[in-house]
Amino acid sequence: MTSDWQNPITAFVYTDELSQYQLSAEHPLRPIRLQHMHELMKSSGLFDLANVDSPAPRVATKAEIETSHDPDYVSIVEAISNGAIAPGMGEFGLGSSDNPVREGMYETTALCVGSTLTASELVTSGKADIAFAPAGGVHHHAMPRSAAGFGVFNDAVIAMKAMVEAGLRVAYIDIDCHHGDGVQIGHYDSDQVLTISIHESGQWLFPGTGYVQEIGSGDGTGYSVNIPLAPYTQDDEWHKAFDEVIPPLVRAFKPDVLFTQLGIDTHFQDPLTHLALTTQGFNLAVQKLGSLAAEIGKWVAVGGGGYDLSAVARSWTMALATMANHDLPDQIPSTFDSLQHLTNFADVPPEPSEDRYLSEIQSFNNGTLKEIRALVLPKFGI
Ligand SMILES: [Zn+2]
Repeated sequence: MTSDWQNPITAFVYTDELSQYQLSAEHPLRPIRLQHMHELMKSSGLFDLANVDSPAPRVATKAEIETSHDPDYVSIVEAISNGAIAPGMGEFGLGSSDNPVREGMYETTALCVGSTLTASELVTSGKADIAFAPAGGVHHHAMPRSAAGFGVFNDAVIAMKAMVEAGLRVAYIDIDCHHGDGVQIGHYDSDQVLTISIHESGQWLFPGTGYVQEIGSGDGTGYSVNIPLAPYTQDDEWHKAFDEVIPPLVRAFKPDVLFTQLGIDTHFQDPLTHLALTTQGFNLAVQKLGSLAAEIGKWVAVGGGGYDLSAVARSWTMALATMANHDLPDQIPSTFDSLQHLTNFADVPPEPSEDRYLSEIQSFNNGTLKEIRALVLPKFGI
C-alpha cells in the first residue's frame, strides 16, 4: 500500500474519447452516460481532491486481447472495424441487435480494454491504492470466440489474466444486474480468481445463466460463485444476500487484489432489468466493497451496465467519492445542469412491495442462500 487507507490514492482512468463508444443510434448503451457522469464528478469537486488523480488510459495491444480471445475472432473484429464485409460474422456473435458492427469498433474497444489495464497496472504497481475505470466492465458478457450482450473484448478477463500471470490472486465481485457470464467462463478452471456475481436470476433475465450450481471446474471447482435473486428485490433484501456471502468468501479466499464490476442496471428505474435498488443502496455496496479493499490494500473498479442516465451519473459519482473517502453533500451541485430535474444524489425509494409479493421475493432469495450454504460456503470452511 502506498498510503494510509484513510486517504487512499484514487486514480480515475478516463478520457472523453471513451464516451464516443456507440454501438448504433438506437442502442440502449448510450455513450453520453459517461459524459454526464464525468460532468457531475467535476461539478462535485472530486478532481480537486488531493488524493484523486485522473490519468489517461492506454490502448490495449492485440497480443493482450488475444490472451483471452481466439485470434480468428479478434481478426474479424479488426477487419469489420476497417470497413470489410465479413460474411461469417454471425458465427462470432457480431451483427445482431445487441452487438451491431461499425467502423472503428476495434479501436474504441481496445481503448476501453486499455482503460481497465491502466487501472490494474496503477494498482498492482502501487502507484494508486484504488483505480476506477468506468468505461470498463460493460464487456462482461464477451466470450473467447464471440461478442455477446453489448460486449466485444472482455476487459475484466484480460486484466485479471495479466494479474494472475504476475502471481496475484484476484477476487472478482460483479454487482451488475446481469450475470457476469463471460468473466466466469474466462476463469472457470482457475483457483487463482474467485468470481462472485450477484444478479437478477437467469430465469428472468439475459444471459439466462448464473445459477448456484455453476461452481467452476477442474482446479477452479468452488471458485465460481453465483447469487441469483428474484425480480423486484430491493435494497434490504439485496444487502442481506450480499452480507451473508460476499465478505466471508472474500476474507476466506485472501486475495491480493479486489476487482469489482459496478454495473448500476440494478437501479429501480433501469429500463432493461427488474431489480429495484436505489442509488444509496448501490453506494452502500460500494462502501462495503471499500471495507474489504481496505483489508486487502488493492482495489480495481470498473463500470458496467446502467441504462438510466440519472442513475449512472449519480451512482458512479457517489462511488468515486466513497473510494476517495469524501463526503458528498445531499444535493446535486447547482453547477450541474446536463440532466434536468435532478435534485439529490439519493433516491426517494420505490414503494415497498406488497406483502404477498415480498414473501415470494424473500422465499426465492432464501432458497438461493440455502443452496449457497450447502454447495459453496463449506468449500471455504464457512
Ligand atoms: Zn447489465
